Amino acid sequence: MSQPIAIAIHGGAGTILRAQMSDELKQGIVAALEQSVRAGHQLLVQGGDALDAVVAAVRVLEDSPYFNAGKGSVLTHQEMVEMDASVMHGLHMDAGAVAGVRHIRNPVELARDVMRHSDHVLLIGDGAEAFAFGQGYDYTEQDYFFTERRYEQLQAMKAKGLFALSESKYPDDKKFGTVGAVALDQHGNLAAATSTGGITNKKFGRVGDSALIGAGTVAENGNVAVSTTGMGEFFIRKMVAGDVAARMRYLKEDVHTASEQVIQGELKTLGGEGGLIALDASGEIHFAMNSSGMYRASIDTQGDLLVKIYADE
Ligand code: ASP
Repeated sequence: MSQPIAIAIHGGAGTILRAQMSDELKQGIVAALEQSVRAGHQLLVQGGDALDAVVAAVRVLEDSPYFNAGKGSVLTHQEMVEMDASVMHGLHMDAGAVAGVRHIRNPVELARDVMRHSDHVLLIGDGAEAFAFGQGYDYTEQDYFFTERRYEQLQAMKAKGLFALSESKYPDDKKFGTVGAVALDQHGNLAAATSTGGITNKKFGRVGDSALIGAGTVAENGNVAVSTTGMGEFFIRKMVAGDVAARMRYLKEDVHTASEQVIQGELKTLGGEGGLIALDASGEIHFAMNSSGMYRASIDTQGDLLVKIYADE
């Protein structure tokens, strides 16, 4: 019998307002989610590694302006894009991550190269970019990442003195648009990847959970792969991805129970809005969120595609 394969992705959790969601915008978001999950799944079908599948899926979302990662990333207080990303492969628990990169078109690929070609796990800022250029990456101008929508959001945040998202004319302005993927390959490997522009109006080199193994990203063969989205300050303090893995490892909770316990538990009590995607070693998928929605999609072990936006669908 062939080994099960499965993949799940997210394009961020948060408040997504049905009333403001136009058909056109919804179609664009759904198409990008489907393209992403299919890109990863195709590699799994061909016998590819779980890590390459999650990187391929995340890359599609980084290239889409609809999500807060790569092109379309939110802007810092200085009106710059500064991106974080991380990956983990569950076989030997290898990991790579970058934080605060400004000129790398696909930070998730750089995170994978940090894992594969450096002696380190996490590289930041100019150092991460020097490593990238040494690996042959192109220098990408800030203009490439910039979108009018993020500029408007930043001005609204600055006017209110806030540093997260708030309401304006877009249906998902109160949403954290980080992207991520988890996959199980034919060899039983689990992998996870997460990529983000962080939060609007961030200052002082702020880094969120998406760059941190154990907070935003985790993968352990035989157990689970997790990618998170939400207000990173809470996800770091609650070590969200690692907590799901630990609950499954020590308490023997299943992927559904562990994910819900973490997202609906103390994280929520503390005010940590957001969600996660989790995939266990048998290919079971769980989407958890304590917000009104999370852009998400999966192709399960039966090959069935699912694409959803709101929590109540
Ligand atoms: N978790 C990300 C961060 O805090 C934000 C997001 O999920 O969009 O950087």
